[in-house]
Amino acid sequence: MARVHNFSAGPAALPTSVLAEIADEMMDYRGCGMSVLEMSHRSSMYQQIIDDAEATLRRLLSIPDNYRVLFLQGGATLQFAGIPMNLMRRGRAGYVVTGNFANKAYKEAAKYGEAVLLASSEDTNFDRIPTMADVNARIAAEAAGDGLDYVYICQNNTIFGTMYHELPACGDVPLVADVSSCFLSQPLDVERYGLIYAGAQKNAGAAGVTVVIVRDGLIADGPAFAQTPQYLDLKTQAAKGSMLNTPNTFGIYVCGKVFRWVEQTGGLAAMAERNWAKANLLYDLLENSKLFHGTAQTDSRSIANVTFRTGDADLDAAFVAGAAEHQIQNVKGHRLVGGMRASVYNAVTMEDVQALATYMKGFEAQHSL
Ligand code: PLP
Repeated sequence: MARVHNFSAGPAALPTSVLAEIADEMMDYRGCGMSVLEMSHRSSMYQQIIDDAEATLRRLLSIPDNYRVLFLQGGATLQFAGIPMNLMRRGRAGYVVTGNFANKAYKEAAKYGEAVLLASSEDTNFDRIPTMADVNARIAAEAAGDGLDYVYICQNNTIFGTMYHELPACGDVPLVADVSSCFLSQPLDVERYGLIYAGAQKNAGAAGVTVVIVRDGLIADGPAFAQTPQYLDLKTQAAKGSMLNTPNTFGIYVCGKVFRWVEQTGGLAAMAERNWAKANLLYDLLENSKLFHGTAQTDSRSIANVTFRTGDADLDAAFVAGAAEHQIQNVKGHRLVGGMRASVYNAVTMEDVQALATYMKGFEAQHSL
């Protein structure tokens, strides 16, 4: 069986053992004579699958009892609207814009209330996370002034290859974070947040599931707007156990398998160690290269998305085209940054990264003067 070195930013590589287990269970899930794809979401067998997925995730992240775990649809994108609709009670929230997805969330929130721009790194094409002292000072001033319902960050910026290495200090204001591309890649202190959410298609499973973890006090009074669609009403979704309607049954089953795999391979601390080893192998190579340059500032580098370029669009294109001959796939950078991007999520192995490093070194030797 030929598997490529897959550096896709998402949907991304899955652990081969998880894929094999799914294949084994595809026709007949544990002797019940049907596939999970064919199973009623109201059956006790399916209830066990979703309960097990939640329980495993709770263990992995030590999620406190006063946080609800939801498995929703609509991607991370639907939560750009869902978050203000649920949390913007006084009509004012602060946004730190560190890239395309943070910007989309900021613009979406502005439809429902006042979205206050706390900081942005757009002036340098989002190559960094703004200085935390500045962000914190701005949060404190806004909180003491007209007040904020929440502070919103995108913790890892998939396109630009940057990540927060320190969380903003929000005081009593709840912190809301899009953790789509760093979810389960390292330990995370859930209690620091009011709400975190992640599209599953990077580290947590299959596209089509969005995991939302929310402190129950924030949703206890229902959504902030009466016209909030029932689907986006987090209080209702929590009361219904993510089964207000038919959930993404198969996607949640895949998430459960991935959560178990993370647990069985040592949990989040071990995952973080492996992920930094992979990312740093590439960052070290970039630092020592005369041809390739990393695009993220050093102290903002992502654990998951390593972005780089040669500075010559034709050479970048030749690198991407030549990669396929080495069974290396999905290394083209996003059009907003150009160049290349290697996403080294949990299921990407050190061997995959070494194959990429070998190709990069060979390409450099071939193209240096
Ligand atoms: N937020 C981040 C950080 C992302 O990387 C992405 C997609 O790649 C999104 C949001 C949008 O996610 P979705 O396609 O699930 O709506």
